[in-house]
Amino acid sequence: MNVYDSQRMADTLAREGYVETQEPADADLVILNTCHIREKAAEKVYSELGRLRKAKQEAGSDTMIAVAGCVAQAEGAEIMRRAPVVDLVVGPQSYHRLPELLAEAKTGKRMVDTDFPVDDKFDHLPAPSRAATRSRGPAAFVTVQEGCDKFCTFCVVPYTRGAEMSRPVAKIVDEATRLVDQGVREITLIGQNVNAFHGTGEDGATWGLARLLERLARIEGLARLRYTTSHPRDMDDALIAAHRDLPQLMPYLHLPVQSGSDRILAAMNRKHGREDFFAIVAKMRAARPDLALSSDFIVGFPGETDADFADTMDLVHQARFASAYSFKYSPRPGTPAADHAAQVPEELKAERLALLQKELEASKAAFDAACRGRTFDILLEKPGRQPGQLIGRSPYLQSVVVNNPPAPIGDIITVTITDVGPNSLAGRCDARAASDIAPSRGSAAQPAPLEA
Ligand code: SAH
Ligand code: SF4
Repeated sequence: MNVYDSQRMADTLAREGYVETQEPADADLVILNTCHIREKAAEKVYSELGRLRKAKQEAGSDTMIAVAGCVAQAEGAEIMRRAPVVDLVVGPQSYHRLPELLAEAKTGKRMVDTDFPVDDKFDHLPAPSRAATRSRGPAAFVTVQEGCDKFCTFCVVPYTRGAEMSRPVAKIVDEATRLVDQGVREITLIGQNVNAFHGTGEDGATWGLARLLERLARIEGLARLRYTTSHPRDMDDALIAAHRDLPQLMPYLHLPVQSGSDRILAAMNRKHGREDFFAIVAKMRAARPDLALSSDFIVGFPGETDADFADTMDLVHQARFASAYSFKYSPRPGTPAADHAAQVPEELKAERLALLQKELEASKAAFDAACRGRTFDILLEKPGRQPGQLIGRSPYLQSVVVNNPPAPIGDIITVTITDVGPNSLAGRCDARAASDIAPSRGSAAQPAPLEA
């Protein structure tokens, strides 16, 4: 979501004459777009600000420095106090106001905007130019839902991103259609709780995520759809059926479970147990037998015992994840679990995380190894390291390196996997993907290929 938000900020500032640079030393303005989900992410902001202050002093430059995102939202006043180098703090609901805020900040006034405005920022954010979309490649994000009403006891999202809200279907369809017209082939719908989506549909009724996906699948030239992040409680039957019925919907589901212990899941306020998770996975695999799963885990939640952790290890063992993210529990100020008396010692969290990650890596390695010899459609996304190489994505989000493919970036080719490495696969290209040549998936008119 921060990648998407950063792009939208860049689109907003493009109208003011700003262009992106990869070098902070070249910049008139540096924006740190920040994450508050764990303490480590939040602390990084202050060390980065220290580095920027030093660089600015040494160069004697007047580069402006802004902090955006959820650390800005949660700690705006604290940032202003701790980091005098910061000119502007802007929360995630206000970044459409960047041009005005910058104009004020340029007069020397230090600005903080962390309001939750009543007007919808999406109505004020300009669309990306064709050049911007092309430079970002053929796979794009579209936010469809923001915020969260679930209040898991460990999580800051309901406080930093606010109440759950869904964008209207027509606006999402417009944004997706425009991206496809500019050469995008794959869209990932994003939201903190994307499958809680309940936007106003084109007929005025409330649509769930399944119906939105079905509508987007009808956009000509849009070859692939994904969504993230979903919550087990919102995996309804319509969404599971969409995985069976929509060929554009990739057979990959990121479904965070956090823990394999019912006791801990209850303490986390997840409102589902481990058997509910297994039941969803079974239904999903019945709907889409080639489905791959990924998940998020937290170890060392307050009160987690060895037996609870063993339940998590057992769930991982049973579920056969293709990929996963795992974290040590990080107490976040203002969340209920942070005040829990039974905090797990840091060493024990580290020990459990190491064990869990070993198991998850083995699971991922087994999944990748089983891909050797399989044939996948790959969306070519960017140049590889060697001349003639392109890197694409498999349906399972694996990076696949292909030598001298017969098609440019933005095309989908059929590849047989020949090698499996720790971070990527390599494949031999047999042909352009049949699905990319035949207009059978509703793509009569192919968009112009994207240039690297
Ligand atoms: N909405 C998603 C998750 C969003 S946050 C869901 O409900 O599953 C992304 C991930 O960060 C979470 O899945 C969780 O694993 C991790 N996370 C969130 N808060 C955390 C905390 N306080 N400590 C450690 N990990 C955390
Ligand atoms: Fe955070 Fe996800 Fe729980 Fe919402 S559902 S509180 S975003 S972990």
